[in-house]
Amino acid sequence: MRAMVLQRVGQPLVMQDREDPAPGRGEVLVRVAACGVCRTDLHVIDGELPRPTLPVIPGHEIVGRVAALGTGVDSLPLGSQVGIPWLARTCGCCDYCREGRENLCDRPLFTGYTRDGGYATHVVADAGFSFLLLPQGDDVATAPLLCAGLIGSRALRIAGVGGRIGLYGFGAAAHIIAQVARWQGRRVFAFTRPGDVVGQDFARKLGAVWAAGSDEPPPEPLDCAIIFAPVGSLVPAALRAVRKGGRVVCAGIHMSDVPSFPYSILWEERELVSVANLTRSDGLEFFEIAREAGIVTETTAYPLSQANEALADLRSGRLTGAAVLVP
Ligand SMILES: [Zn+2]
Ligand SMILES: [Zn+2]
Repeated sequence: MRAMVLQRVGQPLVMQDREDPAPGRGEVLVRVAACGVCRTDLHVIDGELPRPTLPVIPGHEIVGRVAALGTGVDSLPLGSQVGIPWLARTCGCCDYCREGRENLCDRPLFTGYTRDGGYATHVVADAGFSFLLLPQGDDVATAPLLCAGLIGSRALRIAGVGGRIGLYGFGAAAHIIAQVARWQGRRVFAFTRPGDVVGQDFARKLGAVWAAGSDEPPPEPLDCAIIFAPVGSLVPAALRAVRKGGRVVCAGIHMSDVPSFPYSILWEERELVSVANLTRSDGLEFFEIAREAGIVTETTAYPLSQANEALADLRSGRLTGAAVLVP
């Protein structure tokens, strides 16, 4: 197999040839067809997340075909199209796992962070944490659903049912979640980097009723908002944008420090919450929604060997939609 590997945080990924890994009990070997590039990958590479298992192959929006079965696997047939997400394994016995909140497991493994991911031709994954996908789904178009879609969808559910929703940061996740929100009959207000008219046009094209820089207030109070951009100063901005009783959801795994803000913008039962990881039932629910809502992803494909270029384009905001690596 070939893989783009992170050897030390802060360094570019390097291409390596390795022997194909063998699937252990309960695992499958998957031939990767496409792997989305997520902002979390940048946080791993930049050392903004604690204790990555180095060296590590990043990537947790994996679509591929099952190439070999470990012992005890009967849920995923050989050759089937599968999706492998961020949540790679949970302990199954901590308080959170037993409460049905496996996204908060005390002893989890995460794909492309504490376990090798999909910036590679092959990857080994737990069968029980991989999703069987509908046959004939386009590999590249499906990849961003595995994190941007899935964790975005969890954030949307936690934001509540409010009809006027703000999305801060209009990248891979927001471009999917805007379509879901519209399909649910909500009105989407999109906030981009100030001056990003391309991003604002893109948001309007996907049905946003209003799009502007995040330094502008919305034209009317919002019921809820989701912050996808890893920018702490958006927290007070979003709290100011929501009405009494409104909720602000921080959907990223990492964010720059949140500046202090006056209590008055949280007062009146506004809520500020975060969303962490995903559960497997989030995934099953989201794939159902994506099918019914007819979600169409906008992607830019890069060869696996250009993973560093794809990451640089994501970092600089040059991308519209989602970057996807194709081995
Ligand atoms: Zn657990
Ligand atoms: Zn992700």
